[in-house]
Amino acid sequence: MSRIVFFCIPAHGHTNPTLGVVRELTARGHEVVYYSYEMMRGKIEAAGARFVSCDAYDTEQRLTPKDAARIGKDLAFSTKVLVDTTLALDDIVCAQMQELKPDCIVADSMAVWGKAVALKLGIPFVSSTTTFAFNQHSAKIMPQSVGTILSAIFSMGRAQREIRRLQAHGYPVKSALDIIQNDEHTHTIVYTSPQFQPCADTFTEKYAFVGPSVRPAGSAFEKTHDKLLYISMGTVNNDMLPLYRACIAAFADAPYQVVISAGEHTDIAALGPLPPHISVYPKVDQIAVLQQADAFITHCGMNSASEALYFGVPLVTVPVTDEQKGVAARALQLGAAVKPASRRAKALRQAADTALGDPSYRRAAQAVAQGLRACPGASGAADKILAVIAEAKG
Ligand code: UDP
Repeated sequence: MSRIVFFCIPAHGHTNPTLGVVRELTARGHEVVYYSYEMMRGKIEAAGARFVSCDAYDTEQRLTPKDAARIGKDLAFSTKVLVDTTLALDDIVCAQMQELKPDCIVADSMAVWGKAVALKLGIPFVSSTTTFAFNQHSAKIMPQSVGTILSAIFSMGRAQREIRRLQAHGYPVKSALDIIQNDEHTHTIVYTSPQFQPCADTFTEKYAFVGPSVRPAGSAFEKTHDKLLYISMGTVNNDMLPLYRACIAAFADAPYQVVISAGEHTDIAALGPLPPHISVYPKVDQIAVLQQADAFITHCGMNSASEALYFGVPLVTVPVTDEQKGVAARALQLGAAVKPASRRAKALRQAADTALGDPSYRRAAQAVAQGLRACPGASGAADKILAVIAEAKG
C-alpha cells in the first residue's frame, strides 16, 4: 500500500478531474491524503481521501475564485500568490510531509506549493494538469496576446524577488518559470485525449494523456423537446447577465428546449419572466443535461468542453480567458464547434441553429468522443502515479 498526498487550489474545474483518481487509488487499497480548501471538503471525502484543510494555516493568502482566475495570466501576481501560499503553508506542510512520508505528491499545476514541497523534500512528484499540456508547439494554439507576453516579461523582475523569498526558506527553485511551467522531465497527468491535445506527439513519455474522468450523472434530466440546447459559463466567472439576456432574446421563439446554468451568484430574478421552453438554474447536474443535449453554448472551460465532447455534443464557443480560447480553437479546428460572429442575440441564434441543424458538427464531436472514450481515464492516472512510485523505489 502506498500513501499519496494531493494538493489542489479551491476551484471545481481543477478538483473534479482528480476525484476519480482518488476513488481509483483508494479502491485499490492505497491511502490518499488531500490538502485543499474547506469548500471542497464534501466531495473530496466522498471520493475516499482524508481531507486536510489549508484554510486555517493559510492566513496570508486566501484565494478567491477571482484570484484563482488571475493566476496564470499575470506572472508577478501568480508568483506572489504561490510564494505567499507556499511560505504560509511551509512549516506545517513540511512538518506534516516529514511525518506522513508520502510515496508521492500529486499537485495541481497551479497548486505550486505541492510541487515546491516535493522539490524541497525530494519526494516523487506528479503534476495534475486540468488544461491542455503546454510546450512551444501547443502554445501556438493557445492564443496569447502581445500584452500578456509583454507584461509577463516586465514582471519577471518582481517575480524573481518573490522567488528569492522561497530560496531563503530552502526551496531549490531558480526562477518562477521553474515552478509555474512543467518541463518535459516532470511526470504529468493530462485529462484529455492525445487526439484532442494539440501536438500531443511533441510531448515526452513522461506525459500521460489519460482523458477526462467524467463522473456519472447524479439525477435524471427530462428532455421535453426534440432538441435540447444547454448554456453554461462554468463555475468561476459566470455572473454574466448580459449574455444570458442575449440568449433569452435569441431563443425566445426557438423550437427547442433551452436550459441555462447561470451560476450561484447571478441574480436570476433579474432575467424576468421566461417562456416555458427556457429554464434558468443557478446550477444543474451538468452530466445529466449533457447526456441529453444536442448543442452547448459554453465558455469552453476544459471540463465543460471535455464533458460535452465525451457525449458527442457540438459546442458553440464563447470563451473568455486565454485558456478557454485555446480549448475553443482546438474544438473549432476539429470541426466540433461553431464560433458565433458576436455575443449578440442574432449571432448566438445563428450559431446554435448551425450546430443543431448541420449534422457534420455532431459527427465531428462524436469522433472526438471516440478518442476521449478510448482513454484509460482515472484508472490510467492511478497507474501513472503508481508507476512513478515504483520507479522511485527502484
Ligand atoms: N458544473 C456543474 N453544474 C453546472 C455548471 C458546471 O456540474 O451548473 C461543473 C461542470 O460539469 C464542470 C465544472 O463544473 O465539471 C466546470 O469546470 P470548467 O473547467 O468547465 O469551468 P470553470 O468552472 O473552471 O470555469
